[in-house]
Amino acid sequence: MTGFHADRRPPVTVEGGVSIPRSGYAAIVGRPNVGKSTLVNRLLGRKLCIISRKPQTTRHRILGIKTTSACQIVFVDTPGIHGQGATALNRYMNRAASGALDGGDVVVLVIEAARWRDGDEQVLRRVRGTTSPLLIAINKVDRISDKQALLPFMAEVSRHTGLRDLIPLSARRGTNVDALEAEVVARLPRRDYLYPSSQSSNCSDRFLAAEFVREQLTDRLGQELPYSLSVEIERFENEADLTRIAATVWVERPGQKAIVVGRMGNTLKLVGIRARREIQAALGRRVYLRIWVRTKEGWSNDEQALMRLGYVD
Ligand code: GDP
Ligand code: MG
Repeated sequence: MTGFHADRRPPVTVEGGVSIPRSGYAAIVGRPNVGKSTLVNRLLGRKLCIISRKPQTTRHRILGIKTTSACQIVFVDTPGIHGQGATALNRYMNRAASGALDGGDVVVLVIEAARWRDGDEQVLRRVRGTTSPLLIAINKVDRISDKQALLPFMAEVSRHTGLRDLIPLSARRGTNVDALEAEVVARLPRRDYLYPSSQSSNCSDRFLAAEFVREQLTDRLGQELPYSLSVEIERFENEADLTRIAATVWVERPGQKAIVVGRMGNTLKLVGIRARREIQAALGRRVYLRIWVRTKEGWSNDEQALMRLGYVD
């Protein structure tokens, strides 16, 4: 097996025995919409990554860190790997996914139960370029009522990929997700923890707030709009008993602004209510949220605007 690192530090004592913990990065990759973010949230037991029925919701590389006495797994949620992008944002997303692949000690390729698609093939080709051990998570098995029907599909995937490490699971229901975690841990190198055990992600509360607003917008709006929409947190202040947040939604055209605001401001109002609920749950404290919508033409292809909005490698 590849990926083991020499570690000359003294071994860590675990419950009487002597062993070095396992620790490393598990890159979660796959075509858009297969359930990568749902899986990472399930593995972490909390909502860190935003989810959507619409593809290309995850834009950044998000680390979710799970530390126990014997291991530290750093799950890396990635934007789906897709064809060469035309805009600067597209290129940023592909870089985020590729970077995670190259840095992964283990790679988990997520596919959907029942059908191997061209998009899976593209990701597999990209994954083949790494030397890390590869696992295949067959997600959404809850959709298949006759579990016997899974066997021929698994055999087909196995034959096609030459891999026998296939784990059928349901990220949504949590079925068999612990089996995947055990397989990941078994393949991590033995070395000291990479992050302090108190750290659970690379995301600030401010970042999470912006993501939760974006999640609700993506959920409520039409197919094309969310792609040219971004959320900036202008103000984030922790007061004694609540956190005050002011967010700006950036769109590219006045027509899009009208859609985001909605008739009588109803769309934005609903987005605000739901996003506030999610942020409160994530932060564990009361939140006051105000959202504005502003227009900035061409931001998704403007490198400087991208940097200001947090799209920085
Ligand atoms: P990503 O683009 O790969 O990160 O996919 P998401 O995690 O955003 O999920 C895409 C869609 O698939 C969402 O509507 C999820 O609710 C749904 N989904 C994710 N996991 C499961 C699952 O185990 N079963 C079912 N039925 N749906 C799922
Ligand atoms: Mg995602």
